[in-house]
Amino acid sequence: MTADFYIVATPIGNLSDITYRAVEVLKKVDYIACEDTRVTRILLDKYEISAKTFDCHKFNEKQRAEKIISLLREGKSVALVSDAGTPLISDPGSELIRLLLENDINIISVPGACAVTAFLTYLPRRSEEYAFIGFIPRVKKQQIEILNKYKYTNCVFYESPNRLSETLENIKAAFGEETKIAVGRELTKVFEEVKIAPVREIIDYYKTHPLKGEIVVMVFAGENRDPEENDIIQKITALKEEGYCDKDISVIISKLFGISKNKVYKLSIEN
Ligand code: SAM
Repeated sequence: MTADFYIVATPIGNLSDITYRAVEVLKKVDYIACEDTRVTRILLDKYEISAKTFDCHKFNEKQRAEKIISLLREGKSVALVSDAGTPLISDPGSELIRLLLENDINIISVPGACAVTAFLTYLPRRSEEYAFIGFIPRVKKQQIEILNKYKYTNCVFYESPNRLSETLENIKAAFGEETKIAVGRELTKVFEEVKIAPVREIIDYYKTHPLKGEIVVMVFAGENRDPEENDIIQKITALKEEGYCDKDISVIISKLFGISKNKVYKLSIEN
């Protein structure tokens, strides 16, 4: 009988942040497919886990899928882990899972630590809504494009410490120095730090404080905006993506919200 395939979340820094179930699963499976076997070895040694390991990363996922499918069909169970946190969250695994699903393999997710969710628990915010965009693009124009797309949603992204200052300068130039930002650094680790402040203050802070380690950032949604206007702008954006012109959008939305066509038209051309 084909065995089950497990996707197992591992800690994002503090090695104790692993669930009982994750340890149980890693102890019982026959094989663990690791993004990097040397990184995962530290965790496996701590919890005395002796399953055989092999590497499975973004450059060999397709070949590894064949190996994993044949192991599972021989009745050998396999778990996937990444270097830290939840596999497939800005980590490899998507292509592998696609191929496993195509082959009718039963997949079981064992959830746990993830930098995005850990970070969000620190951040009071007016709206529950957020967009997670993974690693922010490196090029300024692409950064602004994507941040503009989510201008009215809390927007979370991963960034390298070497590029953070430049990215914050780009945000300041495009959206203003008062734009509210949160930076989470080294979450769950000894030098964990969360800063919430206007972007100008965060830029100044990191001129005199070390900017090292792992970083996650949130650009807060424009908080002074009327919530109805946020809704309208989201609908405008959705209609634009469907190819509607500003004029048609103003007709549709003015009927939907009972507001003037001119107001919608103005918002449509501004956004
Ligand atoms: N799969 C992981 C997860 O569940 O969060 C993310 C993997 S991604 C390759 C690595 C990036 O996640 C880092 O560059 C950093 O931006 C973010 N990250 C991971 N651990 C973190 C931590 N302890 N504190 C802050 N950010 C972290």
